[in-house]
Amino acid sequence: MESFIVAKKPHAVCIPLPFQSHINVMLKIAKLLHFKGFHITFVNTEFNHQRILKAEGADSLKGFPDFQFETIPDGLPPSDTNASQDTLELLHSISKNCLIPLHNLIAKLNEVSISSDDPRVSCIVADCYTSFALEAAEKIGIPGILLWPMSTCTMMSYLHCQLLHDKGLLPPKDTRNSTNWYSDTPINLIPGMRDIRLKDLPSFFWDGNYALHDICLRAVQETLKASAIIIHTFDALEHEVLNAIKSLLPPIYTIGPLQMLEQNISNTQLRSLRSNLLKEDQDSLQWLDSRQPDSIVYVNFGSTTVMTSQQLIEFAWGLANCKHPFLWVIRPDLVIGEAAILPLEFTEETADRGMISGWCPQEQVLCHSSVAGFLTHSGWNSTMDVICSGVPVISWPFFADQTTNCRYACFHWGIGMEIDKNVKRDEVESLIRELMEGKKGKRMKNKAMELKKSAEESTKPGGSSYINLDKVIKEVLLKKL
Ligand code: UDP
Repeated sequence: MESFIVAKKPHAVCIPLPFQSHINVMLKIAKLLHFKGFHITFVNTEFNHQRILKAEGADSLKGFPDFQFETIPDGLPPSDTNASQDTLELLHSISKNCLIPLHNLIAKLNEVSISSDDPRVSCIVADCYTSFALEAAEKIGIPGILLWPMSTCTMMSYLHCQLLHDKGLLPPKDTRNSTNWYSDTPINLIPGMRDIRLKDLPSFFWDGNYALHDICLRAVQETLKASAIIIHTFDALEHEVLNAIKSLLPPIYTIGPLQMLEQNISNTQLRSLRSNLLKEDQDSLQWLDSRQPDSIVYVNFGSTTVMTSQQLIEFAWGLANCKHPFLWVIRPDLVIGEAAILPLEFTEETADRGMISGWCPQEQVLCHSSVAGFLTHSGWNSTMDVICSGVPVISWPFFADQTTNCRYACFHWGIGMEIDKNVKRDEVESLIRELMEGKKGKRMKNKAMELKKSAEESTKPGGSSYINLDKVIKEVLLKKL
């Protein structure tokens, strides 16, 4: 990999959206930039800083001389770090309250640079939902780029939301609700996106969640103002929509899957730097070691999906009845408003073949030789994790872009099968059996392996993502040095 040696070391300030998946992606970018010779300041909210310290240990955020962690307040009143924050409140608060603290932080970093070896801040890498940071970059006169940590199809859908509305293709606003989920109306208007139905579009297009609707559409408008955009995808995965979107955007650089690019980093200390908000359960890997190859169904719905206790029970009995061993991650806040309680009969019946964990090292779990299938909510990061592992999926999308990711996994890439929103144990059982034992399961596995290979091609020397990382550094991040 190319290393960039300039007279003065560049200094990138990286600002993720303070949600688990967004922190994970930004941390990978920060590590890669560090590997390329950048001094890094990684900015967490004070709330998450405390959560990470609790989950990862006191030394986890000490950083290194040229990779440091800093904090800014998120603007919300202090709250219990054992509980997750309200998504909408947090999104509103950071866009309103974080610009000044960020300015102050950058001023502080620049002041420190006068009397130390630390370089002045020379560029900002911000999440598409922390675009206030672009304003800071513009004022200081340094490059500011945005990270789009979702699929290109999601971005293209957002860009066409108003058009779809104007053409009468979305449910009228006062009738929107989650029952529109079942709408098979074909949507043929979005360039580069074929065979899409209304229910495959991001959920707020039809579910009446106007607050999320406005926030997401604002994020895409802000993205258009960036000097450049990095997208967590790779060319071969989304080539049609990438070709269609290029003319609508500032320069874009596809640099995924970062999970694979990260493997190029030679500094192992840095590579193992983590930012989990929940404590990782390492026993899950040991348990997987003790199981047969290709035998385990891995079940995980990410960091924000929630379900009712009845849905939890349907998943539980589907898993029990399929008779395959499983590793199931049940977050403390997975069930809406209450603790997740599994029936005693389920626990007894699956004691010899089931492992329940609170949070696990997902990337390692998915790449473990005993994992054969993934029951997922199809968050974009989990989708990229799974592409890196060559494992097929069963998808139960919950909200936002997960519906679109599910459609691409199941229909376009052929690596998945979808579970009905109204989940029932019999369907869970039969889909797992198909995935683990059936002909369709085998076909999906082959497709998943092909996709993995394609991701490997993109991230090895000469691959599109490998080249694009160097290009965005040269063409944008180092431009004004
Ligand atoms: N993840 C993890 N351990 C878990 C569950 C998830 O490390 O037990 C990580 C996973 O690797 C991914 C992120 O959390 O980086 C989940 O992101 P995704 O976009 O899939 O979903 P979200 O959490 O935003 O719904």
